[in-house]
Amino acid sequence: MDNAHLAVKQAHNTPPGPSGAAPNTCRRARAQAAGGTHSGAFPLVDTQELRPRRNHAGSQPFTVIETHHPETGEVLEFEWTGKQGLIPLRYTITDHQNARAERWAMKWAVDRLLPGSRQWKCHRWRIPGKALEVKLSLEHQKSFYAGFEACGSVWGCPLCAPKITERKRIEVEAGMDAAKAQGLKVMLATFTVPHGLGDDLEQVRDQILTAWRKGSTSRAGKAFRKMIGLRGYIRVVEATYGENGWHPHFHVLLFLDSDLTPHQIQSGWYPIWLDGCRKSGLADPSEAHGVRVDDGSRAARYVTKWGMDSELTKGHLKKGKKSVNPWDLLRVHAFGLDGVASELRDVVAGLGIDKEKAAGLWLAFFRSFKGTRQLYWSNGLRALLGLKKEKTDQELAEEEMDPIAAILATLTDQQRLDLIRLRKLPELLNLAEDSPGLIPDFLVSLQKKNRTQ
Ligand SMILES: [Zn+2]
Repeated sequence: MDNAHLAVKQAHNTPPGPSGAAPNTCRRARAQAAGGTHSGAFPLVDTQELRPRRNHAGSQPFTVIETHHPETGEVLEFEWTGKQGLIPLRYTITDHQNARAERWAMKWAVDRLLPGSRQWKCHRWRIPGKALEVKLSLEHQKSFYAGFEACGSVWGCPLCAPKITERKRIEVEAGMDAAKAQGLKVMLATFTVPHGLGDDLEQVRDQILTAWRKGSTSRAGKAFRKMIGLRGYIRVVEATYGENGWHPHFHVLLFLDSDLTPHQIQSGWYPIWLDGCRKSGLADPSEAHGVRVDDGSRAARYVTKWGMDSELTKGHLKKGKKSVNPWDLLRVHAFGLDGVASELRDVVAGLGIDKEKAAGLWLAFFRSFKGTRQLYWSNGLRALLGLKKEKTDQELAEEEMDPIAAILATLTDQQRLDLIRLRKLPELLNLAEDSPGLIPDFLVSLQKKNRTQ
């Protein structure tokens, strides 16, 4: 590491705290991440060389160290914590191997919470009659498994959900492009209802879906949709958890043939949403927040970022945010409060959530939401935009990442069991990307390890 690349700045008074579970580029650190332990040591830089001087009182100051990634040149920030050495402070690089290791660690948390479930069987059971293979995409240089059963759960599986949402996101983007080419406008509408801590999540979810239906089938609702030139919509259901408990809500992409402004649509829609909410037994939505309509740029931004909360491990929490999403809760349960980014830790600690409470909340969410359609295309919209028949979540989860892929290894049943028991499935994928020649030795070493344990 070139000293010229380093700039050390003292940042006293900033509360220290490891961000843990963060990007690492060396294999040892990745192995730690894959094993579910997040000591946080970052061996990319020589910690001895960067050790900041103690201040005159002898106590260790909180120090932020900036450096550059040796390959990508990206700025990285570390915190010097003394005992643990350097800990990455900010998620600045999207290291897919790290993101993948984190997804697997979250999957193991789901395994503990839902033993024997479809999610537990996912990437554990083999598809009958199919070989279990380690493959490498020749286009993206990323490795993956073929031949495992996939659960296809968009709400409950850290392995399937990012895959499903990413494929859907790409389709939504294609739909928006097609709409633009046809001269249609796309706006983003958000529909919310007041909620309280005692609310039954499943009941509220049903009620807001009913409120939406009532608003589209009522005479006023139909007339309004015609008036604003609504040619179709894509509805996304989300739930966040904050100081008032669970907050289920909709984001709806509106495909419009109209010259109306977002504000005109928003104020016209409110009475219809209010009516729907009243008819389905919900409290009156607020006039300020019940319906919010934003223009196309906001819609595009929403779609670009959609699904990232399950994919991106850090940095998705905006400053000042007071609520978290279900993946955050699962993350807190999987890694503990000390193992997550400080932004997330601050929010959940403020909500009185610890590792165990996070598990209970996540389970309650999952049980209420499983079976709910996350993303819904209104009838006829796909055809209007020239898109093919929609695939199910299960089909998307089972689809191979890349048809142009090399088979690097075919695993026996014993090897599959060794990999599962020793939690080495993500590590084998790393090896397949970095040093595929070492795969046979790696598998033999697992076999030995499994015998001795
Ligand atoms: Zn799955």
